[in-house]
Amino acid sequence: MTKPIRVRYAPSPTGLLHIGNARTALFNYLYARHHGGTFVIRIEDTDRKRHVEDGERSQLENLRWLGIDWDESPETHDNYRQSERLDVYQKVIDQLLAEGKAYKSYVTEEELAAERERQEAAGETPRYINEYLGMSDDEKAAYIAEREAAGIVPTVRLAVNEAGIYKWVDMVKGEITFEGSNIGGDWVIQKKDGYPTYNFAVVVDDHDMQISHVIRGDDHIANTPKQLMVYEAMGWEAPAFGHMTLIINSETGKKLSKRDTNTLQFIEDYRQKGYLPEAVFNFIALLGWNPGGEEEIFSREQLIELFDENRLSKSPAAFDQKKLDWMSNDYIKNADLETVFALCKPYLEEAGRLTDKAEKLVELYKPQMTSADEIVALTDLFFSDFPELGDAEKEVMAAETVPTVLTAFKANLEAMTDADFLPENISPQIKAVQKETGIKGKKLFMPIRIAVSGEMHGPELPNTIYLLGRDKSIAHIEQTLNRIS
Ligand code: GLU
Repeated sequence: MTKPIRVRYAPSPTGLLHIGNARTALFNYLYARHHGGTFVIRIEDTDRKRHVEDGERSQLENLRWLGIDWDESPETHDNYRQSERLDVYQKVIDQLLAEGKAYKSYVTEEELAAERERQEAAGETPRYINEYLGMSDDEKAAYIAEREAAGIVPTVRLAVNEAGIYKWVDMVKGEITFEGSNIGGDWVIQKKDGYPTYNFAVVVDDHDMQISHVIRGDDHIANTPKQLMVYEAMGWEAPAFGHMTLIINSETGKKLSKRDTNTLQFIEDYRQKGYLPEAVFNFIALLGWNPGGEEEIFSREQLIELFDENRLSKSPAAFDQKKLDWMSNDYIKNADLETVFALCKPYLEEAGRLTDKAEKLVELYKPQMTSADEIVALTDLFFSDFPELGDAEKEVMAAETVPTVLTAFKANLEAMTDADFLPENISPQIKAVQKETGIKGKKLFMPIRIAVSGEMHGPELPNTIYLLGRDKSIAHIEQTLNRIS
């Protein structure tokens, strides 16, 4: 019988949801949904020093924003936070202590540091050397009594099987082997403050929650042999492991770092800038995975359908902000106006630009937008003074045909009645200038566009003129004629 598929995302609430963690959550989600399995969220909050107030809420909220849902979590299940499971860990620790598979360690931080220094100076790989080594039972008892009397609180260490071979067939990387003698000696499973260490707690939790597959970042590879040791000590069956390759910055070729200012790395950033969550979801799903073929735009449902863990990439995933922005623009361009307007509204409102024309303006700029916050700068033309021309625009406007085109177009606009002043009637007025002056193509359109909008590139021209209004369009043309005369 095969085990039911149960996967988990186990964030430590130490800060905002980073793109790397979001990818871990997303691949576990896709794996669970593709195979009809269960997706669990567990909060790993045993590192009290790095604990961030509100970290858990913000993680879950951002996952929800991305469109990820789950079947089990601390919201619906008791004891899905490690801090609530201390008695569970204690029982396992007591069992390991009773069976002699773990022991209390009284060595102090100072002694460990001194030993590490000695090993480094001698060119040895730093490791913990069993403090009881060479002691008789009596000596051992005396050592413990003396340390306890001195008020030294012990940690608990796992007695490592130095001769053991710890091996697994990684879902992403293939076979990986570690020797028991290479992991730095007996390691701490319970800290002085009574909290379990990550490598220990994670095993107890994954076992209790019957996790079948552990899919996480490859920064955890070196932790896996330690975790396998706990499975071995407890006689538990280990889950399958898959370690996803790291995410690199496509510009530097180095591991994505919080110092990379050319990339937005927290999901919260995308949310605040008004990206469509579907676009961010799609982008993250392709970080280290692809379904084959050229197509890159996939809905959540398609990704669930197509997901195949055998296609998880063995080489690093490049985070390319330009690709994300291209994808985001594609989603906004193709989304319905209602959705994009709703996305833009808060930014327009804050800028005092939520006028009766706001929805039309969003429609006008929708094809150009990457994120909704851009709507404010994009609509400057409609709310601010007419901008100075840039060098490229000035060059176009230096052509001798420009005044002829602008004067003719201005006259045509002036001749339109108010009732006629509609987008569909504005194009024919541009065509009319062609007929009147014999000037066509770029020499016709560019000067008109620049005279009205101040820029060579921009949204669709007749609609821009319509939304700007006749008076303002004419005023801009006059201003431009004065500037170039
Ligand atoms: N809390 C760990 C982390 O955030 C989870 C690692 C794991 O998935 O085992 O890195």
